[in-house]
Amino acid sequence: MCNDSVLSNVVATQKIHEEYGGVVPELASRAHQQHIVPVIHQALAKANIDKNQLSAIAFTRGPGLLGSLLVGTSFAKSLSLGLDIPLIEVNHMQAHILAHFIKDEASTKPEFPFLAMTISGGHTQIVLVKDYFSMEILGETLDDAVGEAFDKTAKIIGLPYPGGPLVDALAQKGNPKAFPFPIPKVKGLDFSFSGLKTSILYFIQKQTAEQPDFVEQHKEDICASIQYTIVSILMDKLKKAVKQTGIKRVAIGGGVSANSGIRAAVQKAEKEKGWTTFIPKFEYCTDNAAMIGIVGFLKYREGDFTDQSISAKARYNIPNP
Ligand code: ATP
Ligand code: FE
Repeated sequence: MCNDSVLSNVVATQKIHEEYGGVVPELASRAHQQHIVPVIHQALAKANIDKNQLSAIAFTRGPGLLGSLLVGTSFAKSLSLGLDIPLIEVNHMQAHILAHFIKDEASTKPEFPFLAMTISGGHTQIVLVKDYFSMEILGETLDDAVGEAFDKTAKIIGLPYPGGPLVDALAQKGNPKAFPFPIPKVKGLDFSFSGLKTSILYFIQKQTAEQPDFVEQHKEDICASIQYTIVSILMDKLKKAVKQTGIKRVAIGGGVSANSGIRAAVQKAEKEKGWTTFIPKFEYCTDNAAMIGIVGFLKYREGDFTDQSISAKARYNIPNP
């Protein structure tokens, strides 16, 4: 029963956060409680299997919001106990990377070692992937994550949460060079996005003081310029990582890897720099069940199970054995 194909990949998105302009932790965990049983029923129905046919249960242990992680962890523990099947803990950021190993006829899987840039709502990392479970973080953000940079600047220009996909859509109709924003100088392979957010805020405040409808008039150019700056920051570091390690196999993962600008920039580097690149299918970019499932499969193969004493971990770095 246990293999690397996806039988169902059910995702419940939480609309509630739109109203508040961001994720409210307490509301997120309550929504998890409401959704978890229906989502599991739906997943089993779509896969056309009965719960008694399950071989193991994999769950996200962390990192993330503790309240939400506790809902999943407790549920997974109970299910494993009730069905008497092995329990497998998954690191969420490792899963964003290992999503590249989900069975898919249309794409080839990266060979080890490769570089993975994980760009998401809470992280921005460049990871050296030596093997499935041997990973080393070479660089990461010192402040905001890249997804936050998209969402917070989107909020400044009045877009609803999460703004990343909306900035992307508007950017496609704008001029990326219309408003040049500064590229931060950060050492090594680390990133910083909080300065960019502040400079965009000041720029918008200044322009709006002179012309109250500035944002309305220039929304597409503003979005294109923001996206261009963010993509430039990411690509500069990625190129540096390739130079530093000599590894030209490059994968991206996490919600922001759905961004058209970064996808195009990575494809361009493949052509111009001779990289072999791995870009996830859209459904495997933002959080999804299949990426947790593939880690479950890989650990199941190795007999890497956990026991009932396991607890959720809000801060949980990719394990580096
Ligand atoms: P983490 O994985 O770090 O714990 P998360 O799980 O909350 O964070 P993901 O679901 O991986 O984050 O990604 C969500 C982020 O991706 C949001 O910030 C969202 O705005 C961003 N995002 C999604 N699609 C796009 C896009 N097309 N362009 C830019 N950003 C995008
Ligand atoms: Fe994520």
